[in-house]
Amino acid sequence: SSCEKRVLSIQSHVVSGYVGNKSATFPMQVLGFEVDAINSVQFSNHTGYNVCKGQVLNSTELQTLYSALKENDIDHYSHVLTGFVGSESFLLEVVNVIKELKARNPNMLFVCDPVLGDFGVGYYVPKELTPIYREKLLPLADLITPNQFEAEELTGITIKTEEDAFKAMELMHCSGCKNIVISSTELGKDDTLVLLGSSLTGEKNKRLRLTMHKFDAHFTGTGDLFTALLLVWSHTHPDNLALACEKTIATMQSVLKKTLEVAKKRAGPGNKPTVGQIELRLISCKDDIEHPGNNVKATVM
Ligand code: ADP
Ligand code: PLP
Ligand code: ZN
Repeated sequence: SSCEKRVLSIQSHVVSGYVGNKSATFPMQVLGFEVDAINSVQFSNHTGYNVCKGQVLNSTELQTLYSALKENDIDHYSHVLTGFVGSESFLLEVVNVIKELKARNPNMLFVCDPVLGDFGVGYYVPKELTPIYREKLLPLADLITPNQFEAEELTGITIKTEEDAFKAMELMHCSGCKNIVISSTELGKDDTLVLLGSSLTGEKNKRLRLTMHKFDAHFTGTGDLFTALLLVWSHTHPDNLALACEKTIATMQSVLKKTLEVAKKRAGPGNKPTVGQIELRLISCKDDIEHPGNNVKATVM
């Protein structure tokens, strides 16, 4: 149909660097998706720099943009993707948009990265967004991709073991979400990260584990890139969340390897790369986006 592979992506925009829509749009386009981007904020750069200035879109402005798309009959999407949202009123308006699009196209998929925060830094959005994600977004979501911190905050379950993680995912399934991937947990050995997933699409609940190399650096925009890639690969492989995760992580590993190599070279021997030097090297990884390797393997349980 006319709306196959058309994504409405509601995330942040940064002038410089790669988080939010700047991290998600290029990969989805390279992989053949039309991307209509609504910028929840327009910042100079991500919030991890010393200075971060810009504008925030409010819920009325979101409504204005969406109503015009509707009036022109150009609001036909196969997917809605949401990421960083900074206010309660904006998130509630996002819920309205998703409900309306789903009512008119029951096949439309909603991919939700419930951006709340991370260990170490804590919340980077108002804490009041947590119950809204839990009660209003999760029931509408076809795929959600929390990090470990977000999975814990959404469920109230502290994840110390793999069992805890699956307990948390069960709880999220009960809210109505069909596919859940915790993008990374600290449950692996020293230099590894462990992705865990749970899918209800098949005849039964399929669980998966994927262990990956952990790079010794802190990246930003990785969650946004991860969710965009997973949206694409789960569209290509709708009944195989494990394969979708393998392709996604294969590209993530290539992008982070190149990003860290460039960052270290720029920093010079013995120096820790600055936030500017460690921005994702998405453009030079175009080929790794188009052709993920097949060297990453998930275990289905
Ligand atoms: P977020 O960026 O939203 O906090 P994660 O930290 O789970 O989410 O990162 C998303 C993805 O980015 C992970 O699945 C992993 O593929 C990749 N990633 C992020 N940081 C690292 C790292 N230090 N080493 C390897 N992969 C990483
Ligand atoms: N959007 C903005 C404006 C940010 O500052 C950040 C993180 O600092 C993000 C999105 C999310 O980044 P990540 O994908 O690493 O969770
Ligand atoms: Zn994130």
